[in-house]
Amino acid sequence: MTIRSRFAPSPTGYLHIGGARTALFSWLHARMHGGEFVLRIEDTDLERSSTESVNAILEGMAWLGLEYDEGPFYQTQRFARYAEVIQKLLKTGHAYRCTCSKERLEALRNEQMRNKQKPRYDGHCRHRADVPDDVSHVVRFKNPADGAVPVDDLIRGNVTFNNAELDDLIIARSDGTPTYNLTVVVDDMDMNITHVIRGDDHLNNTPRQINILRALGATPPQYAHVPMILGADGKRLSKRHGAVSVMQYREDGYLPEALINYLVRLGWSHGDQEVFSLDEMIALFDIKDVNRAASTFNPDKLLWLNQQYIKSSDPAHVAHHLSWHLGRLGLDPSAGPGLVEVVKAQQERAKTLVEMAANSVYFYREFDSYDEKAAAKNLKSDVLTPLRALLTRLSAIDWTCEQIHQAVVETAESHELKLGKLAQPLRVAVTGGTVSPPIDQTVYLIGRERSLARLNRAIAHIEGHAGGQA
Ligand code: GLU
Repeated sequence: MTIRSRFAPSPTGYLHIGGARTALFSWLHARMHGGEFVLRIEDTDLERSSTESVNAILEGMAWLGLEYDEGPFYQTQRFARYAEVIQKLLKTGHAYRCTCSKERLEALRNEQMRNKQKPRYDGHCRHRADVPDDVSHVVRFKNPADGAVPVDDLIRGNVTFNNAELDDLIIARSDGTPTYNLTVVVDDMDMNITHVIRGDDHLNNTPRQINILRALGATPPQYAHVPMILGADGKRLSKRHGAVSVMQYREDGYLPEALINYLVRLGWSHGDQEVFSLDEMIALFDIKDVNRAASTFNPDKLLWLNQQYIKSSDPAHVAHHLSWHLGRLGLDPSAGPGLVEVVKAQQERAKTLVEMAANSVYFYREFDSYDEKAAAKNLKSDVLTPLRALLTRLSAIDWTCEQIHQAVVETAESHELKLGKLAQPLRVAVTGGTVSPPIDQTVYLIGRERSLARLNRAIAHIEGHAGGQA
């Protein structure tokens, strides 16, 4: 039997951290078993669903690399099928028409509340044989009256629900549209889903869904309900805790692998290992090992992981993502050094790609002005002569890191300067500030033409400020 899992988001917002983790667990479960992963968009709530949300979810999945083998399926395209199943349930006596008015249901509810009972439908129409189908009605599932539904949850263990606690839920509204529990059941059945991995806010729906599946003659899938994610304050993770949209992490300069790695550790562990390649995750992950308790979101740890990934990933891969960030800054990555070389020079020194991009602007565009403090400290008349000498030397060398290095070292020596006393003014001259990779590498990457022009600019700057003396 092929293992088939699915991710079934409702498109009522962006793909958030919790959804992404559920998708990841479900995806890993399929991958580790050589199975198939299905994406299903549960868009039947027409008022709350939107195309933008669908796109945001698809974009988030793509960015994270959670590719699916089938789908996306859209529930709104399956209404005819749901109607067919509802008819089947009516015909086989597993469902019935209910004409109870809003007023009756409200009165019933109020009475139950007064008697401190759990509000539930009392089965009024269940026992009527004469409900006409041309009167406004909903369709209710005839839940078994007695017995229990054991749910053998792969994470939670055995959870048993008594049928006596489950009332006859509505499966079709008065306009004929199907409700959530019906559509999920039909889809999980038709799509041959073997494993339903989802948030534990759905655990209460599971016995109802199992009962409907049984009524349809289907074998229920296995369930795994993933616990919640909490913020540091112990409350359910939400916008209050900072970014929760997956795509916000892209904008904030995270690598998708770092986020994936972070998400897999939210509720799952393998010894004290923190960094997992995708292959390792696929080999080691087991849904049964997911923690029953809620996990806490820790943005510092995610940032730490991101830094590890930026440091250790293939520069070409990082370059691909950096390119997007440079684009956002309005920079043309072809208007400067090769991105892979820039990443190699920068990857030890950035926690995020936003930081890396911001610190790489001078490779691709002229800077408007010097960092004021840096210029005041480093571009002074005492370095005018050495900078001029350096300019002459740099104009004549082969443009390699080694030759640039030698030119800086020898110019410093011949002017009796410590290396830093020349390197730092040179850095300010070519980058506008005091932070960059090693100076020879920086100058090399900026390129001959730009570096010489910027040195000239710095010399002119000092001459201007020093009134031309020195
Ligand atoms: N559409 C539901 C949600 O987004 C998930 C249903 C399920 O996974 O069974 O919460």
